[in-house]
Amino acid sequence: MNVVLLGAPGAGKGTLASQMCQAYGLRHISTGDMLRAHMREATALGLQARAYVDAGKLVPDALIIEMVRERLNEPDCQKGCLLDGFPRTAAQAEALGAIAKIDMVLYIDVAVEALVKRISGRRVCGKCGTVYHTSWHDREECAKCGEPLSIREDDKPETVLRRIEVYNQNTEPLIGYYREKGLLKTVDGSGTPEEVFEAVKTLVEKRV
Ligand code: AMP
Repeated sequence: MNVVLLGAPGAGKGTLASQMCQAYGLRHISTGDMLRAHMREATALGLQARAYVDAGKLVPDALIIEMVRERLNEPDCQKGCLLDGFPRTAAQAEALGAIAKIDMVLYIDVAVEALVKRISGRRVCGKCGTVYHTSWHDREECAKCGEPLSIREDDKPETVLRRIEVYNQNTEPLIGYYREKGLLKTVDGSGTPEEVFEAVKTLVEKRV
C-alpha cells in the first residue's frame, strides 16, 4: 500500500505518519526530513535547497522529484510507503503517478488559526530530529539524546504565514486532483493525535 498524506504545514502530517508507519509497516518518506538531513550534512542538494527551505518557499520540482524517485526505487520502499510532504505541486503529483501506484490519499483538514498555533509551539532536536510541542513537553532538551531543542528556522512566525500561502497556492489544488481520481479520503485533523489516528484507522481498515 502506498499512501500520500496531504495537509497544510502544522496539520499533523509528521505525527500521523509515525503512527501509521508503526501500525501498517509502511516506510515513512518525508521530503522535509530528507532535505533537512541534506542540509545538516551540507550535501550539494542541501546547499541548493537551504535558501528555499529557510525562506518557506518550495524547492524546485526537478530537484525534489529526482530525490524522491531515487528514494522510492530503494528496496525498502517496495513493501509500501507513506509520503509526507510530497507531492506539493501539480508537476510533482504527475511525476509521482509515473513512479509509483498510489492507493490512498489522506487529506488532514485543519483550520488555519489552529495551524499557526500548532507550529508556534513546535520544537525540534537539532541532533536526532525528534519533534516536540510545548503543550506536552516543557523541557528544553530532547528526551532521547539530551540535546537542546530549537525552533526550526522556517517555523518562525513570518515564515509560517508564507508557507501557508505557498500551500494554499500550490498544494491545496491537489485535493481536487486526487478527489477526481477517486483516491481522496478526508480526515478531521482538529483533534488530539490519538483521535486523528483512530479516525484514520477506520478509513484505512474499511478500505482493506
Ligand atoms: P516540511 O517539513 O514538509 O514542512 O518541509 C519543509 C520545507 O522543505 C518546505 O517548506 C519546503 O521548503 C521544502 N520541501 C519539503 N517538501 C517539498 C516538496 N515536496 N516540494 C518542494 N519543497 C519541499
